[in-house]
Amino acid sequence: MANSPAKTPLILSPTPLHRLDRLSADLGIDLWIKRDDLTGFAFGGNKGRKLEYLISEALKVGATVVVTCGSAQSNFVRQLGAACSMNGLRCAAVVMDLPYDAPAGKPSGAHPGGTGGNVLLDSLLGVDLRVIPDGDWDSLFVSTEDLAIELESAGETVYRIPVGGSSPLGAYAFYQAASELNVGPFDWIVCASSSGSTQTGLAYAFAGSATQVLGVACDPEPNIALDFAEIGRGLAPLIGASKFLEAEDYLLDFSAVGEGYGIVTDEGSHAIQLMARREGIFLDPVYTAKAFACLIRRAETRDIEGRVLFWHTGGTPALFA
Ligand SMILES: *Cc1c(COP(=O)(O)O)cnc(C)c1O
Repeated sequence: MANSPAKTPLILSPTPLHRLDRLSADLGIDLWIKRDDLTGFAFGGNKGRKLEYLISEALKVGATVVVTCGSAQSNFVRQLGAACSMNGLRCAAVVMDLPYDAPAGKPSGAHPGGTGGNVLLDSLLGVDLRVIPDGDWDSLFVSTEDLAIELESAGETVYRIPVGGSSPLGAYAFYQAASELNVGPFDWIVCASSSGSTQTGLAYAFAGSATQVLGVACDPEPNIALDFAEIGRGLAPLIGASKFLEAEDYLLDFSAVGEGYGIVTDEGSHAIQLMARREGIFLDPVYTAKAFACLIRRAETRDIEGRVLFWHTGGTPALFA
């Protein structure tokens, strides 16, 4: 397309795509994996793809500092910090150990985000990490905007990036990533879903095809599909799509969330062990463990069948948190 979004290269793509022979036999499906844990960029993960477009935009508008928010163990903040280091930008992030949804309240199993894992990597990268006491997502967004305004009044040019990099540009990255699948067609693509641009991009890429894109929610917020629809409305003009996907067009499974965002579940721990012991591949506790646990269950109950792609979205540094 003539005016497709500009990209600043960060990751090694295409990421590997291969079959999981042992788990295919165990689960009775033809199971493949897309290795976005192996982007070759800042310990990997799905955020590298989004950042190729977001950083390009930040540079275009002449930003001096990028401001975002998330959980303390945010994989996005880590990858954003690396992208900023490589492009001469400062990176500031307001984080809570475990942000929660106001109606659900703070989960009882919540534990501090600690100083290991992504927090350690953030400090190595020189990220200006502002840790504030736990509260809900809305209060996190307010504190983030306060920081952006403070930096602007100090003379900085601020580029704001929404949580998880989930803007239309983030979704555009995953719309493009779909073209890396040179094996297929798949009956199902399963990915972990939270801020939504991963699933939104893939859903647009496979809209109207026989491939079903299933997002496994890692966040108990029941209305996330409304946010996905909103991101999609921004994506559609970038890809020349004439039809919008509505909230009900997004296939989401909430059965693996457990007590809340970032709280490890028993079936998630089992999924981590199974993937490690059968295939020698590591999952993360916050996202991919829950997504893969859901995939296992649905394979057992025949709620997914045929050729299935598990999109590994990364996150493994959180294993060390
Ligand atoms: C952010 C993240 C996700 C969720 O992707 P979204 O685009 O925010 O829905 C899944 N897995 C990992 C490891 C992540 O860091």
